[in-house]
Amino acid sequence: MSTNFSSALTHPVFKVVSQIASEKGISAFVIGGFVRDLIIGRPSKDIDIVVLGNGLELAQLSAEKLRVKKVSLFKNFGTAHFAYKDLDVEFVGARKESYRSDSRKPIVEDGTLQDDQNRRDFTINALALSLNIETFGNLIDPFNGLKDIELGIIRTPLEPDITYSDDPLRMLRAIRFATQLNFKIETKSLESILRQSDRLKIISQERINEELNKIILADQPSRGFILLKSTQLLHQFFPEMIALVGIETIDGKSHKDNFYHTLEVLDNVAEKSDSLWLRWAAILHDIAKPPTKRFDKEIGWTFHGHEDLGARMVPRIFTRMRLPLDQKMKYVQKLVRLHLRPIALVKGTVTDSAIRRLLNEAGDDIEDLMTLCNADITSKNEFKVKKYKQNFEIVSLKLKDVEEKDQIRNFQPPVTGELIMQTFGVGPCAEIGIIKSQIKESILEGTIPNEYEAAYAEMLRIGAELGLKIEA
Ligand code: ATP
Ligand code: MG
Repeated sequence: MSTNFSSALTHPVFKVVSQIASEKGISAFVIGGFVRDLIIGRPSKDIDIVVLGNGLELAQLSAEKLRVKKVSLFKNFGTAHFAYKDLDVEFVGARKESYRSDSRKPIVEDGTLQDDQNRRDFTINALALSLNIETFGNLIDPFNGLKDIELGIIRTPLEPDITYSDDPLRMLRAIRFATQLNFKIETKSLESILRQSDRLKIISQERINEELNKIILADQPSRGFILLKSTQLLHQFFPEMIALVGIETIDGKSHKDNFYHTLEVLDNVAEKSDSLWLRWAAILHDIAKPPTKRFDKEIGWTFHGHEDLGARMVPRIFTRMRLPLDQKMKYVQKLVRLHLRPIALVKGTVTDSAIRRLLNEAGDDIEDLMTLCNADITSKNEFKVKKYKQNFEIVSLKLKDVEEKDQIRNFQPPVTGELIMQTFGVGPCAEIGIIKSQIKESILEGTIPNEYEAAYAEMLRIGAELGLKIEA
């Protein structure tokens, strides 16, 4: 008896496609991620429909019936796509792919449903549900993918060496799915990945990033990074992170393993925020610890300046990894540079002026910086963690307090350059910059409040010191 999922295929798209396929005498199946997610009970917006016959025509007729106006046809690839409500529906002809050792591009030809399932990456991604009227909802599962979902196993349909060598990106996808779904990768697969991890070099960085960012966005990204390290895939595209691995001991003094520390921070951030770039800041916050590491006989291990060097490494890493070089990079760079600042406040005495300076530098990213910094409090010593977290609370409260009182976050000078020029009857000159920065300095230091009257008086005082005369 075959397993049937017709009761789960209630969406009008399936009924319509089924009806039209039957009228045209062709076969159609839902396949891949949508079926997997349906069984797992995970929401999914992409429907892939594989067609034995003319997929373009089936797509067009289905769209008409659903009153969808825009259908994109890719005649060269034999694929079609339309959006229906919040779903993306893609039609593609069943394909057979054969790879030759001397070329990365497969030879693609029309194939059977079985051919199409053979070319899929994992058993859990090769499941198909029939849309044909007589067999509507029947599961076609040649590789026991359903059982692998139940067992939580990532397994390749063919021999792992073949599946991974045909398209080495699949090695990264194995880890991506294992991380997202909290599945185990079967041992045979892991061994195969380790054997050919260096083949990832032939994959474009853009394709790598798509999978890497999905790993980073998972509930517990550390799971993925531990697998990336043990399979040596991480070595291929992220040597700076591999450099964080390891503990050194001199005179009985050891430092912590910065790779595992970074993963702890990343998981802590992931608990609080879904922001990809905040998570990237967690990954990179200690990236310059290896090149700044020193041993001092008196004080032990130090990593002086790792926040500044780390911030300088960010653009280099983003460029090489083809990550965006826009505001997102600047944001990550800023968080890396400032990541020690709140903690320094936690350890010392918290003055209003130190808080104002931090607010002024972090601007609107202050909350994210505090999230990162709080996540950075990790130690085997529970007492220490508790004490730091308590102090951290105090700094957070103080921040709110100062912010309400002084409004420093997006600092706008209460006295403008224009007013300074008018008051002293001068044109643009060096003195204006001096006056403005000294007023700002006094406000941050707390010698005057962030208000017009006080700033005006301060302007007059500094102007007089500089020998400027008030315009009559
Ligand atoms: P999600 O969209 O949730 O990230 P998905 O499984 O739908 O996961 P896609 O990248 O959208 O992943 O791919 C859709 C389907 O196409 C997969 O389920 C799989 O069957 C197949 N597929 C995608 N990429 C590959 C690949 N590199 N090798 C083999 N099959 C692949
Ligand atoms: Mg998908």
